[in-house]
Amino acid sequence: METKNGFTRFDTINEFKTWLNKQNIKRKINKLQVHHTYLPSYKNWPEDELTRQHNMKEYHMHTNGWSDIGQHFTIFPNGKIATGRSLNTNPAGIKGWNGNAICIEIYGDFDKGKDMMKIEQEESVVACYGLLCKKFNITPSINTIRCHGWFTSSGTYLGGYSKSKSCKTCPGTNFMGIGNTKSVFVKNFYPKIKDYMMKCESINGNTSTNESTNRNDGKSYTTGIYKVTVKGLNIRKGPGTNYDIVGVIRDKGSYTIVKVSGSWGYLKSKAGWINISNSYCKKVK
Ligand SMILES: [Zn+2]
Repeated sequence: METKNGFTRFDTINEFKTWLNKQNIKRKINKLQVHHTYLPSYKNWPEDELTRQHNMKEYHMHTNGWSDIGQHFTIFPNGKIATGRSLNTNPAGIKGWNGNAICIEIYGDFDKGKDMMKIEQEESVVACYGLLCKKFNITPSINTIRCHGWFTSSGTYLGGYSKSKSCKTCPGTNFMGIGNTKSVFVKNFYPKIKDYMMKCESINGNTSTNESTNRNDGKSYTTGIYKVTVKGLNIRKGPGTNYDIVGVIRDKGSYTIVKVSGSWGYLKSKAGWINISNSYCKKVK
């Protein structure tokens, strides 16, 4: 992770996830935009991510006359994600669909015959949309995640890509090797995001958001023996979801907690911390 020029670069999905969990966003968010940068493309790659963010901001402000960089995030070919404008402001991304939206620019030119998205970039794209959907309670669908190219240049929604009517091909006619049409998004893109979201939930133990909100539930917990009541419970390096996952308890067994911090308990085995709140565990002794 690095911060420079007012932008932060996340080197892993976990870094991005930890940061996102901590963001307190005042604006209502229920839309996610999909863009490719077109220019720069893979021809310009590799380069320093945060210098590129700075240069895009300069271009958006001084050439386009915008108040800031247009997008909230850029996803680079190496899978790294960088922040853009504040999440508390609407983006300059899609005319007619910027209110309550987050704009994500995916670095490359994904039109047919141009750049083929690298696997590490694809993984970050899916994870980024998945984590944003979880954070803002968004269900991936044509109503919530839309391509720039599904709109006309005057901001009319076309319901999908149209070669003759769309403002642009953005995010590219061969985006992710599947394309930019409504039907491939329904068949391939939304399901990938949903799979990612489900995977996150099963690792977190259950569908409750308690662990991810990282809050002490107000009850006071004491040391003792706790029985895990969920199928999978993360073991973390420290007492909170901002700490890395170091293991998972899958046996619904009983474990001795020797130290407590809020609703987190430290395992006698020294394996790490688990959330011992009633959503995940039951005190047996
Ligand atoms: Zn676009």
